[in-house]
Amino acid sequence: MEFDIKSVRAEFPMLNRKVNGHPLAYFDNAASSQRPLSVIDAENYFYQHNYASVHRGIHSLSIQATTNIENIRNQVASFVNAASSEEIIFVKGTTEGINLVANSWGNNELKLGDNIIITEMEHHANIVPWQMLVERIGAEIRILPFNDYGELMLEYINELIDDRTKLLALTHVSNVLGTINPIKKIIEKVKSYGILTLVDGAQAVMHCTVDVQDLDCDFYVFSGHKIYAPTGIGVLYARKSLLNIMPPWEGGGAMIKQVMLPSGTTWNQIPWRFEAGTPNIVGIIGLGAALKWVNNLSLDIIFKRENLLMDYALEKLSTVPELIIYGPKERCGVISFNLGKYHAFDVGSFLDQYGIAIRTGHHCAMPLMQHYVVSSMCRASFVFYNSEEEVDRLAASLIRIHRLLGG
Ligand code: PLP
Repeated sequence: MEFDIKSVRAEFPMLNRKVNGHPLAYFDNAASSQRPLSVIDAENYFYQHNYASVHRGIHSLSIQATTNIENIRNQVASFVNAASSEEIIFVKGTTEGINLVANSWGNNELKLGDNIIITEMEHHANIVPWQMLVERIGAEIRILPFNDYGELMLEYINELIDDRTKLLALTHVSNVLGTINPIKKIIEKVKSYGILTLVDGAQAVMHCTVDVQDLDCDFYVFSGHKIYAPTGIGVLYARKSLLNIMPPWEGGGAMIKQVMLPSGTTWNQIPWRFEAGTPNIVGIIGLGAALKWVNNLSLDIIFKRENLLMDYALEKLSTVPELIIYGPKERCGVISFNLGKYHAFDVGSFLDQYGIAIRTGHHCAMPLMQHYVVSSMCRASFVFYNSEEEVDRLAASLIRIHRLLGG
């Protein structure tokens, strides 16, 4: 099947709108992507025809809604190739998934004097929950650095590991540099020391095939809204043997087997033990529709298109005077840059005037900014629905801004 950009874009109503009098060129996909009509329609239809609460009802609608969301759990399991749908926990997003692991596995397993390793290129979501955990426990965080090309310095990993190292938490793809970390190789290495691994897949799941069994990771987390699903829904994959020994982290309805007063309450089986309260039912419906949509288009076609577009964008942007691009040549999803000495906010505001949406700031990765000794960067992030013509507009606008700012 050929990739037909016109018909693909037609499925995303947001891409048709204008901003500041110009056609929107949406390059903020790494923050949150747009939704195809089939996702919007699936949620709409569910609200109009099938809505009911799940798990606790015996009436037909509730049973049907429960079947629907449990089928989507199966669908997610096969999307990441989990061995069982019991290993799929619905969460709000990547941030909540990591907090779940830190609060449940971490509180239970980490002891005074233990350490965990994270990398210098992590999003704050994969830093702060661990900092909060080690502070509670009296444990330590160790940092795997990256080099100026934006690649992890794997040669340092041995120096960081000792017999008190319990976990390595790292991103699959950097949200600032687009670096695709060799996580399979890294996991294989640290596993040989008995260290568990958590992979932050927030920037990978829409650009790479994810096979948790092949990766052999213990935890893999992603957010629905980056892969064309609604906000407020995400996924934590966790190895069944770990989930079975992890205590719940939030209490309430749905996660219990029996509640006793004053004590003696017992827990539901996995995965529901980790899903206290009414879940984001309609978000799950939207997630199912989004995964179906990407599978229908074909992941291979999406990845091929995105690779071509990335090459095209790197080449076009190389014509912009004084543009500093951060990160390795081999990358996916994002190009972060600064335009000479001009502040990222100024550049982003000018681009916005031309209808071009990029992200500016620290991108929730302040330690990464510190590495490059900058406080902010501009970030253009691409997915398959971005067009070459939009990339041309981005490059031409940057050249114009450079001139306007006196460059
Ligand atoms: N990790 C990475 C690499 C991200 O890019 C993001 C969001 O941009 C997150 C974690 C947090 O995702 P969420 O805000 O959906 O929980």
